[in-house]
Amino acid sequence: MYTAFFFVFGLVVGSFLNVCIYRIPIEKSIVYPPSSCPKCNTQIKWYDNIPVLSYIILGGKCRQCRSKISPIYPLIEILTGFITVLIYLKFKLSIQTAAFLIFSYALIVGSFIDLKHYIIPDRISLGLIAVGVAFSYFLPIGLKGSLIGAASGFVILYGVALLGELLFKKEAMGGGDIKLLSGIGAFLGIKGVLFVLLFSSFLGSLIGIALITAGKKELTSKIPFGPYLSLAAVCYPFFGEWIIKFIYGI
Ligand SMILES: [Zn+2]
Repeated sequence: MYTAFFFVFGLVVGSFLNVCIYRIPIEKSIVYPPSSCPKCNTQIKWYDNIPVLSYIILGGKCRQCRSKISPIYPLIEILTGFITVLIYLKFKLSIQTAAFLIFSYALIVGSFIDLKHYIIPDRISLGLIAVGVAFSYFLPIGLKGSLIGAASGFVILYGVALLGELLFKKEAMGGGDIKLLSGIGAFLGIKGVLFVLLFSSFLGSLIGIALITAGKKELTSKIPFGPYLSLAAVCYPFFGEWIIKFIYGI
């Protein structure tokens, strides 16, 4: 019963995350005005703004001008719905569920902005640090664990960035990634940071090789790293601790 509720809740939140992804980089308000078609500017009626369903009913086109609506919108809604259910199933009705929902929603927004614009807004990364530290008081990692996590995320990636610049004489790691891992550390603690570094590099190489082989990217292409950090971070509560224990024995 609750599972269905959390799924629908996730779809509705996903619809709002779409608005954030679209508007935060262009510095528009995320609450006003209501959504409109980017082509013909017609305001979207509430009955055409129902997550996933409206997209299917309208055949992926604007009701007024019939221009195509990107399938990314319903996909983000479905993704958000699934992540919401998984977190609820893991943590049930608890403060941890609330914390990890906010955490995942911010990471979804940050990732899709990074994919599109190659930036991670401070509102997302610094916001995660602030909210993570505030929530930590109620979470198993505690305030100290959260502060150490945030600091270690920052220091480790900053070190990687410096080293990369020394070795390759070009920017290897953006400031946005450094702040994002700090925010992730504020929620997951230092073990989470270790897992995220490990798993995101693994995912990054795997997907990077796949894209290069498929001829979609070249070795020198710019590939944003934020989505990998985020994906690894969302996975951490489900199997990260187990993997860290397996590898490092801590
Ligand atoms: Zn239109």
